[in-house]
Amino acid sequence: MSEEREKNRQQRKQKLKKKRTHMSVQESRERIRNFNEVALGYTDKEALEEASRCLKCKKPRCVKGCPVNVQIPEFIQKLLENDINGAKDIILCTNSLPAITGRVCPQENQCQEFCIHPNAISIGNLERFVADYGESGDRNISSELGSKVAVVGSGPSGLTCAAELAILGHKVTVYEALHEYGGVLTYGIPEFRMPKSVVNDEVKSVMALGVTFEKDALIGRTITVDELLEKYNFNAVYVASGAGTPNFLGISGENLNGVFSANEFLTRVNLLKGYMFPDYDTPVTIGEKVAVVGAGNVAMDCARTSLRLGAREVDIIYRRSEGEIPARLEEIIHAKEEGVVIGELTLPLEIIGDNKGNVVGLKCMKMDLGEKDASGRRRPIPIPETEFIFPVDTVIIAIGQRPNQLIAQTTGGLETTKWGTFVHDEETGATTRERIFCGGDVATGAATVILAMEAGRKAAKAIHNMILERDLNQTVLKDLPKEDR
Ligand code: FAD
Ligand code: SF4
Repeated sequence: MSEEREKNRQQRKQKLKKKRTHMSVQESRERIRNFNEVALGYTDKEALEEASRCLKCKKPRCVKGCPVNVQIPEFIQKLLENDINGAKDIILCTNSLPAITGRVCPQENQCQEFCIHPNAISIGNLERFVADYGESGDRNISSELGSKVAVVGSGPSGLTCAAELAILGHKVTVYEALHEYGGVLTYGIPEFRMPKSVVNDEVKSVMALGVTFEKDALIGRTITVDELLEKYNFNAVYVASGAGTPNFLGISGENLNGVFSANEFLTRVNLLKGYMFPDYDTPVTIGEKVAVVGAGNVAMDCARTSLRLGAREVDIIYRRSEGEIPARLEEIIHAKEEGVVIGELTLPLEIIGDNKGNVVGLKCMKMDLGEKDASGRRRPIPIPETEFIFPVDTVIIAIGQRPNQLIAQTTGGLETTKWGTFVHDEETGATTRERIFCGGDVATGAATVILAMEAGRKAAKAIHNMILERDLNQTVLKDLPKEDR
């Protein structure tokens, strides 16, 4: 074996032995008293230490695991060369919002799951480091094509689609119903997980590409989608209006005082700045004992927010077992460290109120696990005669969201599924109406940030191609004799 090959072999062996570099977090007893970010990010030394473990695979499986195919070994290599700006430019080629994905992507089920290192590289932590400290060079923006695209919604899907289209030379306007941009990143995910300054910076980077933003513009009411196309002369509309309508349990007691939907609760705390009360005039009344029904990221955010608002005891009520919790692993770990109790295999039956209409308890029953269902998870089965009353004074329902129907109802020919999502082509986002595209949660139902971004990228490409094709057709038609058109 040549000296060079032997050296490489030894280096690889050393890298394989290295353990993951942990990211520091605020201490749990301290952090439940504030809304500051929990995970503190890598220092320079930690980032380099972690980057040095990457094996620089020739056929990197991690890239395949990333829905937007970030060129992972390439950006890690730039980081190792101390070229953090170069690293950021590589990420930005396929991911316009790296400070966000670095913080909230479920990496353990994506890039990191595919990483061949026995102790997967902390790709998300490195992405966050590069996004936070790197400065991007000027993006290569194509010259203006003279076309206009409207984007409905400023969540991750709308922002991504808008950025990609602007880079391709289209004039883009983003219409947002709320008074702040960012979608769920702003009104849903709490400050301690997604600092609003980070979201604002990412929005600004999209604005810097020349994208125009209009807030307080509820499409379907302020302006309809048809008006955007016909009156305002947009060549295409991308609808990324998310899934903001909460699901309820359909059990009795859901209208009692002290019952919140997760959306209402988190919007009051985040968008209306309840977490900064009394500096902001949004009091959020939380009880001493809180039950959060559901176990996804939304439920974990509600539980951890409740603790920070002063609840003494917070329980997650989940009908399946703890091993099947859909939330990100990091959120489950952090929630448990903070004192959130996971009440697995428990089904809520009724919310109980006192004679003043205030919540005093949640009637539940215990569950067992049966055969696997269509989702591949074992089906929860009620155990007879196990009903019990759990004394609580606040119940937060976090069992999923679905799309608001305003746009579907005000846009003729736009077909929806039985779940209220738009019927669409998965590769292009094309809806059942010409020149109207969609993506993100409005198309898939509540999903993840990175999937919403992937849909935004795909649709941008499809919209670009459609506009070029239509232009070409029109040019050809113009040159044809009138009778042949
Ligand atoms: P959204 O982010 O919902 O944005 C849609 C935007 O459209 C909103 O700003 C809305 O106001 C606007 N809008 C709606 N209707 C109209 C209209 N008619 N006119 C104009 N504007 C309109 N995913 C992860 O990957 N990791 C996580 O850790 C994670 N945690 C989450 C925590 C919470 C509390 C929630 C609610 C979701 C979480 N998710 C997480 C899911 C993720 O945030 C969503 O999948 C993602 O935001 C969807 O992006 P989107 O752009 O499709 O929609
Ligand atoms: Fe590095 Fe893991 Fe990707 Fe290989 S699979 S290039 S080790 S991050």
